[in-house]
Amino acid sequence: MVAPVELFSPAKCHRLVVKLGSSLIVAPDGTVRRQWLEGLVAELAARRSAGQQILVVSSGAIALGARRLRLPKGGRASLEDAQASAAVGQIELAQVYTELFAAHGIQAAQLLLTLQDLEDRRRYLNVRATAGRLVEAGAVPIINENDTVTTAEIRFGDNDRLAARVGQAVEAGGVILLSDIDGLFTGDPKSDPDAELIPVVPQLTPEIEAMAGGVGASGMGSGGMVSKLQAARIAASGGCHMAIISGKVDKPLSRFENEKIGTVFPAPESAPVSRKRWLAGRLKVAGTLIIDDGAAAALAQGRSLLPAGMKAVAGHFERGDVVDIVNMQGKVVARGLVSYQTEEAARLCGRKSHEIEAILGYSPRAAIVHRDDMVIL
Ligand code: GLU
Repeated sequence: MVAPVELFSPAKCHRLVVKLGSSLIVAPDGTVRRQWLEGLVAELAARRSAGQQILVVSSGAIALGARRLRLPKGGRASLEDAQASAAVGQIELAQVYTELFAAHGIQAAQLLLTLQDLEDRRRYLNVRATAGRLVEAGAVPIINENDTVTTAEIRFGDNDRLAARVGQAVEAGGVILLSDIDGLFTGDPKSDPDAELIPVVPQLTPEIEAMAGGVGASGMGSGGMVSKLQAARIAASGGCHMAIISGKVDKPLSRFENEKIGTVFPAPESAPVSRKRWLAGRLKVAGTLIIDDGAAAALAQGRSLLPAGMKAVAGHFERGDVVDIVNMQGKVVARGLVSYQTEEAARLCGRKSHEIEAILGYSPRAAIVHRDDMVIL
């Protein structure tokens, strides 16, 4: 078996995203685990000095703020509580990181992002440019979801997926999720003594997903293994390696390099071009196109989706929206920007491209989803 760190060595990444969960940053009494954080910042600062560009995705705002405001359930009793807590806790986080990085002569920077900032292509490019400029200027961006303004329907909710999406946006070589356990286990290590750590996950199969069910949530953050696997999928589609390692130790990054304890999700060898990465990492789609086996085979060979291969449509989409393309077995095989809106696409199912004009009265595009606007999943 190949050791995980041979597939993904964080020390070799030019750009590295490191995500810290709430239970690592905040003690059960609601205070910052400053000593531990000092150790981690020292590790990150050493990497920064060695020429690596580091971006930190940090949770902890809600947990910290809840203590200051004396709100129940760690600030997670309601969305309003979480938003108020985050507003208070985020300032404290910013202050702590500023001080700790300053002790190494490094400037910390703050980036608060919403889901929409990364879903909308123009805003995504903007985030990417800003984050890129910051790391090139030597700063360490500290990134969190902008919890104070995001509402339930349009938020990441967990920083695992946010970290993967950021990794994808900045074209990081790797994303490390510091967790409260050593990685992904075959069962729940807290209740199953036979549960074993899985060092490498070459592919996210249904068996692997079944192993993630409900494991690892510390109760303080909102992560858990399910969101970590979703993050792995996003990271892989963006060409980033990902690792889940324990943060419950001193110098977690060095421990991973030396002792090789953790779970690595290696990125596929051929990463899609950046516009397609953005598409693949989108969390929300407007609708679904169901296609026949012939069309699925054509897509796999790099062809566009023509109306003839489309069996049915679902959802509500406008021209240019992102849709999932699903085969007859119900599997999502591709994702793309659709050229027609819902009703038009429905009327074109099974028809030839040269019939489009007769059916709709106009024919802007022969393909329902052009191959340049599509990513195979
Ligand atoms: N953004 C949340 C916070 O700062 C954490 C989300 C998570 O638990 O992953 O508290």
